[in-house]
Amino acid sequence: MNPLYRNDRQGVLPDSWYVASTDIPADRPTLQGEVTADVCIVGAGFTGLSAARHLASKGLDVVVVDAHRVGFGASGRNGGQVCSGYNVPMRKLAETYGADHARRLWDLAEEAKDDLRGLCQTAIPEAQYKPGIAEAAAKPGEVDGMHRDVEFLQQAYGHDTVHTLDRAGINDLIKTDSYFGGHLDLGAGHIHPLRYAFGLAHLAEKTGARIYERSEVHHIAHGATAVLCTSQGRIKAQHVILAGNGYLPNIERKVSAKILPVNSFIAATEPLGELAAEILSQDIAVSDSKFVLNYYRLSEDKRLLFGGRPSYQIAFPTDISTTLRQRMTRMFPQLGDVRVDYAWGGTLGITANKLPAIQQVAPNVISASGFSGHGVALTGLAGKVLAEAVAGQAGRFDTLADLKTPNFPGGVAMRAPILRLAMTWYAMRDRLGV
Ligand SMILES: Cc1cc2nc3c(=O)[nH]c(=O)nc-3n(C[C@H](O)[C@H](O)[C@H](O)COP(=O)(O)OP(=O)(O)OC[C@H]3O[C@@H](n4cnc5c(N)ncnc54)[C@H](O)[C@@H]3O)c2cc1C
Repeated sequence: MNPLYRNDRQGVLPDSWYVASTDIPADRPTLQGEVTADVCIVGAGFTGLSAARHLASKGLDVVVVDAHRVGFGASGRNGGQVCSGYNVPMRKLAETYGADHARRLWDLAEEAKDDLRGLCQTAIPEAQYKPGIAEAAAKPGEVDGMHRDVEFLQQAYGHDTVHTLDRAGINDLIKTDSYFGGHLDLGAGHIHPLRYAFGLAHLAEKTGARIYERSEVHHIAHGATAVLCTSQGRIKAQHVILAGNGYLPNIERKVSAKILPVNSFIAATEPLGELAAEILSQDIAVSDSKFVLNYYRLSEDKRLLFGGRPSYQIAFPTDISTTLRQRMTRMFPQLGDVRVDYAWGGTLGITANKLPAIQQVAPNVISASGFSGHGVALTGLAGKVLAEAVAGQAGRFDTLADLKTPNFPGGVAMRAPILRLAMTWYAMRDRLGV
């Protein structure tokens, strides 16, 4: 089934707290008839919109097409955490790729956060960037490793906005007895992602990009001029950027082979008022080390936005909120009587090595996806680097493409069932605390 429609109706944004707390812009047109462009971008999430803005500001004629709407995908539904680095500790990346390559990767990831923060300070203040992400160890044996990762960042890159926390330190920040230590990174932060996506779209259009909504690309005919077909129109473009991430249907096998669509879910409680301070003592975001991880933070109106419960099933469960509520109240019994007002899901792309898959698919077709839960910051940078590659500067594109994300075992048909089995095993270990 086409991932674009398996849990959603065309052009309908999910019933999330993000949608409820945002001024939704008017619909953009559906593509009709033939248009030409220097670059056609498939997908109006953070990746596609960032690429569009950077390309248009270089004077290129850019068309963005989305099957649904701007910010419809993971970009408008996520946990909002603007994380440092990648979904693999830098210490491990330095071991695998060597110190020089790891340093270039770290610098790119830092630039990703700087760019996002800069936009939130100037052009998109409504996204309300706030500093601070704590990572919490759910098992005593994990604390040392986390602290070694922090020491590596401090020593190798001078990342001095992160510091380690012992059990008392983490319990001071997060009012649960579930954690044994961790760290707080004030160089990371959190935003309102849907407002940020709408802000990016506005900036892209201001620099000259055209955005079409409700326009699914269902076929690409390759050639010196690529032709992208939608149900009511087509785009002839010299370059193509694929930015459909977990929602991209199987229209490019080289991309699908590396990306596994995974669902994740978030519940928003009713506003907590003074109870909020009994959950988090600072306005930071949290993610924990459970294999089936939990991530959460407070909204501006003091709801707890509690996320987790990844699922490898294609369809969303009919009842999203009950399991999330159970997970939340197991950690925070003080929320036992609290109502859940919104619960929604979204699809993200993960890769086999948890690193983004940046690749050249054909001579004039490039793609960035599979940010593996680390895309809020990295997508903006990926879009910038894709724009550089289209403009003929491939150096930073190569730094990311050299991560050589492998194909999933089992191919497009079997990758999800295989992973589902593995995840069930690890989830059981989580529950048993082993
Ligand atoms: C619930 C959830 C929580 C998350 N939390 C975090 C977090 O806290 N921090 C973090 O860093 N990351 C998080 N992520 C991941 C992050 O949201 C993604 O990495 C990021 O938003 C990906 O952006 P994107 O632009 O690449 O893809 P998306 O935002 O998914 O956009 C892809 C777009 O492409 C369109 N599209 C696909 N195929 C086609 C086609 N054929 N034709 C036309 N349009 C098409 C879709 O309609 C969609 O709008 C989370 C994801 C989810 C789902």
